[in-house]
Amino acid sequence: MIDNVVEFFRNLPKKQCVECGETIDEQHECYGNKCDGCMDPGKF
Ligand SMILES: [Zn+2]
Repeated sequence: MIDNVVEFFRNLPKKQCVECGETIDEQHECYGNKCDGCMDPGKF
């Protein structure tokens, strides 16, 4: 059963950064459509 869940998420399309096209880790979805490199809080 767990294997099926894993496969389900693996088959989901990856989100891409709107700035550089890098694949975005789903755990960062709350930040929008940019990757870590394009919205590093440290830059501000
Ligand atoms: Zn980016």
